[in-house]
Amino acid sequence: MAGRCHVIVIGPQGSGKGTQAARVAPLLRLVHVATGDLFRQLMTRDDELAREVRSYYDRGALVPDELTLRVLLARLDELEREQGDQYRGALLDGYPRNLAQAEALDRVLTERGDVIAAVVHLVVPREVLIERLSGRLICPTCGATYHVRFSPPRVAGICDHCGGALMQRSDDTPEAIARRLETYEQQTAPLLDYYRARDLVIDIDGNRPIDVVTRDLLVALESRLAHNPCRSS
Ligand code: ADP
Ligand code: ADP
Ligand code: ZN
Repeated sequence: MAGRCHVIVIGPQGSGKGTQAARVAPLLRLVHVATGDLFRQLMTRDDELAREVRSYYDRGALVPDELTLRVLLARLDELEREQGDQYRGALLDGYPRNLAQAEALDRVLTERGDVIAAVVHLVVPREVLIERLSGRLICPTCGATYHVRFSPPRVAGICDHCGGALMQRSDDTPEAIARRLETYEQQTAPLLDYYRARDLVIDIDGNRPIDVVTRDLLVALESRLAHNPCRSS
């Protein structure tokens, strides 16, 4: 029997990875693990590591692979300790982003006896991405994502879930957005071929209302996960 069954979400910035992952993870007994959220949390500290991460993050550049893998593994280990058999695996959002990370992930998952059950690819045209990212608001307290027009909070500027004050991300500037989308095309999109060769990829049209995308995702993932013998399935 396999250990954990993990699912990876791949899509350009603004395709709705965070929004969808937060909705479907609890329904599938997965835990949403977003490396961007882990870094934003880490950067609230005042130490050398936080300053190092910020020097990449604010430019929209990737944090070095080794450091990123360390942060990810620390979170996976923490989940093992905290959640035990309550969950099936992680819903990975924002990892891997290049071939070296994908290969490192395969290595560490094999060591743990875990598998990748599916790779979801959210497809959204570029002009829609820019519109979404320029109106994105996040809650720095609980990580929830909103949009000023497409997914507004009940009270302007206030998080529905925790009452925190919403803000724009420091890297949702036109320059950093352009840089991140370029890095996505060059380094992350090629991973789809890497996973297609293993028949793992599920393409989902992400350019539809949030609820419609969620419904499609749930149906597709439920059937994939049902065919994988993972712990606590
Ligand atoms: P990603 O994690 O892929 O960068 P997000 O989930 O943060 O994307 O979504 C980017 C922005 O677009 C957010 O402001 C979010 O509220 C909004 N959004 C997400 N999905 C949709 C959708 N299907 N239709 C319209 N807006 C969306
Ligand atoms: P986006 O997908 O919009 O770039 P994320 O929240 O996923 O936003 O990531 C924000 C930033 O965190 C990235 O620009 C990068 O600096 C860092 N980051 C997140 N995931 C990774 C990763 N897998 N490898 C390297 N850096 C990462
Ligand atoms: Zn909140």
